Amino acid sequence: MISIREYELAESLEQAHEMLLKNRFNTIIGGGAFLRLGSKRINKAIDLSKLGLDYIEEDEHEIRIGAMATLRQLEMSSALLENFSGTVAESVKHIVGVQLRNIVTVGGTVYSRYGFSDPITALLALETYVDLYKGGRMSLDEFLEKGSPRDILTQVVIKKSMEKASFKMLRNSSGDYAIINACVAVKNGSIRIAAGARPARAKLAAAASEFISGRELSEENIEKAAQMAAEELDFGSNMRASADYRRQMCRVLVKRALMEV
Ligand SMILES: Cc1cc2nc3c(=O)[nH]c(=O)nc-3n(C[C@H](O)[C@H](O)[C@H](O)COP(=O)(O)OP(=O)(O)OC[C@H]3O[C@@H](n4cnc5c(N)ncnc54)[C@H](O)[C@@H]3O)c2cc1C
Repeated sequence: MISIREYELAESLEQAHEMLLKNRFNTIIGGGAFLRLGSKRINKAIDLSKLGLDYIEEDEHEIRIGAMATLRQLEMSSALLENFSGTVAESVKHIVGVQLRNIVTVGGTVYSRYGFSDPITALLALETYVDLYKGGRMSLDEFLEKGSPRDILTQVVIKKSMEKASFKMLRNSSGDYAIINACVAVKNGSIRIAAGARPARAKLAAAASEFISGRELSEENIEKAAQMAAEELDFGSNMRASADYRRQMCRVLVKRALMEV
């Protein structure tokens, strides 16, 4: 069970960040859904709900998603349904249920870089950036590698550089975490392949992406790219599946996703 000594509704990002740095047990809360599963002792819970960060905005070049937007907003957003073949919406719609998705936030999901995350894999295949209050803008790829400790994620920005995409995942049962997930995105022959829930966090399959980019999406090339992705990524074992099973299923999911773009 978590315990929270004090709670504060931040008036500005600057104030929230100052509070965060004041004490190492001060913590930003998003939806609080994951925090409450743990046993953390929080000195001060810092709530960003008053800062207007629950938006999804679209212009000609990009879609900007505020940190306090919920996964349900991702699922229902016309901007996300109409772009990237609706892949971002597709990646969240199997997560537990509508009640949970109405609570959990994009900021809490992306900042935490959870290995099991479905939306992170979809965002990674697209051209996505994160805006951090102190760390500034960095590509999601770089953020997943490095993180940005004691910072606040303010928004996620998806460039409209990919026109088609496909997200695939495998679960033992509905509501459980994915055993493996994968996403493929494409524009003008340029292809990005990402896989997550390995169970480590999502990663781009760089060599497979390079191989298939610009090549005809023939059965043979798709088969080879899927095999390359499964070979170049690392997989681990846990209670849900073995590393070997994950590798085999990654190949299958990447192949299916490539067949759809
Ligand atoms: C029972 C359950 C099952 C789930 N199953 C899945 C699943 O199958 N697939 C999947 O992808 N996800 C799953 N999730 C995860 C969920 O989608 C969210 O990723 C998760 O709950 C975190 O979102 P939150 O808003 O609740 O964050 P919180 O619990 O509020 O916060 C999580 C962490 O992020 C930090 N944080 C929050 N917001 C910010 C911010 N803006 N800037 C910096 N730090 C911040 C907090 O300090 C905390 O450390 C599951 C969650 C639960 C509770």
